[in-house]
Amino acid sequence: MNLVWHRADLRTHDHPALYQAAQSGPLVGLVNLDPHILEPTSPRRRAWFYANTQALREAYARRGGTLLVRYGTPWEVLPQVVAELGVQRVFAIASYTPYGLHRDHKTEQAIPGRIHWCEGNHVQPPGRLLKPDGTPYTVYTPYAKRWWGEAERLGEGLLPPGRFPALERPDLELGQVPQEPSDVPLPPPGEEAALQALEAFLRDRLPTYHQTRDRLDGQGGSRLSPYFTLGVLSPRLAVHRALHIGGEGARKWVAELAWRDFSADLLYHRPQMLHQSFDPRWDGLPWVDDPELFEAWKAGETGIALVDAAMRELNATGFMSNRARMAVAQFAVKLALLPWQKAEQHFKNRLLDGDTASNLQGWQWAGGLGVDAAPYFRVFNLERQVAQHDPEGVWLKRWLPEWGGPPVQPVIDLEAARQRYLAAAARIAKPR
Ligand code: FAD
Repeated sequence: MNLVWHRADLRTHDHPALYQAAQSGPLVGLVNLDPHILEPTSPRRRAWFYANTQALREAYARRGGTLLVRYGTPWEVLPQVVAELGVQRVFAIASYTPYGLHRDHKTEQAIPGRIHWCEGNHVQPPGRLLKPDGTPYTVYTPYAKRWWGEAERLGEGLLPPGRFPALERPDLELGQVPQEPSDVPLPPPGEEAALQALEAFLRDRLPTYHQTRDRLDGQGGSRLSPYFTLGVLSPRLAVHRALHIGGEGARKWVAELAWRDFSADLLYHRPQMLHQSFDPRWDGLPWVDDPELFEAWKAGETGIALVDAAMRELNATGFMSNRARMAVAQFAVKLALLPWQKAEQHFKNRLLDGDTASNLQGWQWAGGLGVDAAPYFRVFNLERQVAQHDPEGVWLKRWLPEWGGPPVQPVIDLEAARQRYLAAAARIAKPR
């Protein structure tokens, strides 16, 4: 008997662990509801995880398979399931976040020699690409140059098993998928919905992606990120499909998926990014730990149109476009000087696509904290961003109906804040 342990890979297509397990006899799937991950997060993110777990259970059942759901610490749950079912081998897709590595190490110690790790959630798994001198990449462009070689070699991906080898255990307790109400509407869960959304994007928007990706309403992008975050959709399959279609839009889109792998690679090599700026000198900025300012930013009540519209959209939908993410993060870090770790955590838990590595990279890049060495003195002009990326103000009006009415006093004076940041940053950036 083989066990397939699903984590952030809630799918059956292009799933090397499931594929290999199915080659050698009966198998059963497992989703472990890990309190270390689920408890600190938000109801909307738990609801999204549960909805996709339920969809995976249905995908298994359609092919005669069984997916168990067990609550508890994985290094306790896995030994129990292995003993209960007489499991010989556990197949799982490797995880590379600091917690994922810790969890997998502890679980391996609890069932020594039994777990077989596969790759499947990245085109290039973290740690795979190194500079010619053997050190990790710190800048995206040379990393991406190497990454493309692998991307161009990808094939169709692995098909799910047509039928799962039968499991003769009618007595088996399957375990409940919890129900939790979400405070935002969820996208349709499950891999079938994800694959349909991928095909619709490739057909309708990929050809113009390079021109429309910066729209503040996010309608130029694929909005597939919530599926990628839980591995409901295989990034390798998505890259292969896009490159098969080709064109400028496809190359730009695939380059964004290279950012996803680059983010995971950065965090893998520097787990201290969880708490520390990539270049720790930036932790010396004069942070303003002001609860009122933090609350105003969270609620979208800063009096700064772009920031407020974006935060209200996030609160109401769990999504925000990349351009707006860059703007609100830059506002929080460079202008409001909110302690970035607090803001980054809050942000991740509001996003349905919240992903530890991409979010940390996004914050530390947009905030100029050393990722990809963006010049510190670049500070967005928030009004110009709106004029460029939402010229008719349609998105702004949707989330900020009062926009265009009597002027609102912003919570901070933007020009004074910019000067304060530039002065502090110049002191930090000065060569020693
Ligand atoms: P598309 O434009 O269609 O891109 C396709 C896919 O590529 C995305 O679904 C995503 O998986 C990946 N991708 C795109 N841009 C990036 C990027 N800059 N870095 C890493 N991966 C990328 N992305 C997350 O998935 N989770 C996060 O928690 C997250 N936090 C962010 C925080 C900040 C401050 C910033 C600036 C960016 C963040 N991003 C995050 C990256 C990016 O904004 C989102 O992936 C993108 O907006 C999702 O929309 P989409 O699916 O339409 O993307």
